[in-house]
Amino acid sequence: MGNGPGSKVITSFVPSRSINCLLLILMLLNGCKPQPVSRKLQVVASIEPIAYFVDRVGGDRVSVSVMVPPGGNPHSYEPTPKQMVRLGESALFVKAGSGVEFELDWMRRFLDLNKNLVVCDASEGVSLQPMTSLTESHEESAAAGQHRHGRDDPHFWLSPQNARHIAANVERSLAAVDPSNREYYATNRAVLDRELEGLDSEIRNRLSGLKERRFLVFHPAWGYYAKAYGLEQIAAEGEGKTLTPVQMSMVIDLARRDRIGVVFVSPQFSTTQAEAIARDIGGKTVMVDPLSRDYQQNLRRATAAFMGSMQ
Ligand SMILES: [Zn+2]
Repeated sequence: MGNGPGSKVITSFVPSRSINCLLLILMLLNGCKPQPVSRKLQVVASIEPIAYFVDRVGGDRVSVSVMVPPGGNPHSYEPTPKQMVRLGESALFVKAGSGVEFELDWMRRFLDLNKNLVVCDASEGVSLQPMTSLTESHEESAAAGQHRHGRDDPHFWLSPQNARHIAANVERSLAAVDPSNREYYATNRAVLDRELEGLDSEIRNRLSGLKERRFLVFHPAWGYYAKAYGLEQIAAEGEGKTLTPVQMSMVIDLARRDRIGVVFVSPQFSTTQAEAIARDIGGKTVMVDPLSRDYQQNLRRATAAFMGSMQ
């Protein structure tokens, strides 16, 4: 009977330990559940440079996914089923709003899929300018039945002053969807706004001394940038189509006449024709990306590339 008291201790100890284990398991299970308080706001941006502004203004309160992936062509992209699922779970869609074909083709379906989706037009307040190209006139577009009389150039984000509008539009939409964080978004936007003003004057200063102010691009993405800094963009194509032999020789003649040595190309488009032009004029192709997510550094890189071609 010597272990009588001992067995009493054990019997009273065992149940309380299993309750402790059960509590621990329950706590662990509970910990695996999604925590609604810390969940980030789900946002979809149509293109990478627009996502940059959502990243910067939304900070750590927002999770951004992008529809057109790096290297994808926003003039012809189609979303994947996975992206459509993500869109169904998102609170906000930020579109360029400037006539990017991908958005024109898909916006209605996005809204059918997610009735609660709030849409932010990143180009609100920006004055869009007409597309200019050597090989596409407005008359040609109208004749082709496209009803794009004086079609707007969609690439407005490549001017830092326009980018300030994007940041403001994104801030307004985030605050509307998630009012509890409106001050946080306002602070982030104010910081970004000062950076964009600084970037604008930095680029203006760097380009101010140039005598030659024309550059030749294959795809006409840099019209707003050119206008902002008193440069002239000469664009080979206008609609993302392959140039005809007649159009090719038109571009080559002009480049020879103006002694142009560089044809700027972008990662989203085939460079075959641009390389053929460069060979014919005894020049080279140089890559500039109109759709980089690294917005500010990318504009600095592009500025250096344009300067190099105009000296
Ligand atoms: Zn484009």
